[in-house]
Amino acid sequence: MKSHVAATLAVLSASVLSLSGCAAFTDDGADPASSAGGVEVAAAFYPLAYVAERVGGDHVDVTNLTAPGGEPHDLEPSVEVTAEITEANLVVYERGFQPAVDAAVGENARGDVLDAADAVDLVPFREHGVDSDELDPHFWLDPLLLADVGDAVAEQLADVDPDHAPDYRTGAAELRDDLEQLDQDYTEGLAQCDRTTVVVSHDAFGYLQRYGVDMEAILGLSPDSEPTPADLARLQDLIREDGVTTVFSESIVSAKSADALAEATGARSEVLDPIEGLTDRTEDEDYLSLMRANLSALEEANGC
Ligand SMILES: [Zn+2]
Repeated sequence: MKSHVAATLAVLSASVLSLSGCAAFTDDGADPASSAGGVEVAAAFYPLAYVAERVGGDHVDVTNLTAPGGEPHDLEPSVEVTAEITEANLVVYERGFQPAVDAAVGENARGDVLDAADAVDLVPFREHGVDSDELDPHFWLDPLLLADVGDAVAEQLADVDPDHAPDYRTGAAELRDDLEQLDQDYTEGLAQCDRTTVVVSHDAFGYLQRYGVDMEAILGLSPDSEPTPADLARLQDLIREDGVTTVFSESIVSAKSADALAEATGARSEVLDPIEGLTDRTEDEDYLSLMRANLSALEEANGC
């Protein structure tokens, strides 16, 4: 969504409404502003919005601060996004994933704030085979870590809205059931494969490595960086040596590098979604269906 500079409060309010209208999480298309009394939750990007929606159910109106199709890493909060942060009863974000959002939350949040990075033990990139001393923020690709965030969201919502505390805890428990089933399906699905190497677009998939796959990223840490010729040559050798059948690109980021690499090596080009956000292509999907599509794609690519 284009950001508009709101000259008047009226214009600002209208913009906020239109932003909410774009979000994937309004109840049955209802205008969020009409459900006065509901808890307003501002979630910084899709997986956090999914969790807030699952845990909060009918008691919450969730706004995803990253508009559909947007790359969440480099979201620069617009006037509308800043207003959502200010007005929310609860902001759910992840410190370190979207630096500009961190700053906006610090300056503008007036309600409760939950940092997902406090709810899970983030794993250092280095333990995922990436040359960086930072923590890997892509925890939602581990279903069990996402379940931990669900519990934290339930406790925070119970604090904001004590009358519905039992419902929030039930929502988190049902979410955990689904995520534990998903974890089991990944464990079983990737237990016996012909290959373990997976060539992906950027270093988003480290948390899947505990299921026995080895991720090799074309672009490194940033989804919109450019690979060097040396990087591409190394990956071409790896693809040939390991018999890699498929080069994975992402749905949000341009598939150019992945397609070029696939063409150079005779591998197929498929999508593995880091589920950082929804796009036009995935607007009818949700976290669970995208994770299952990723599992099928990995099984197919690696001969599992
Ligand atoms: Zn990422």
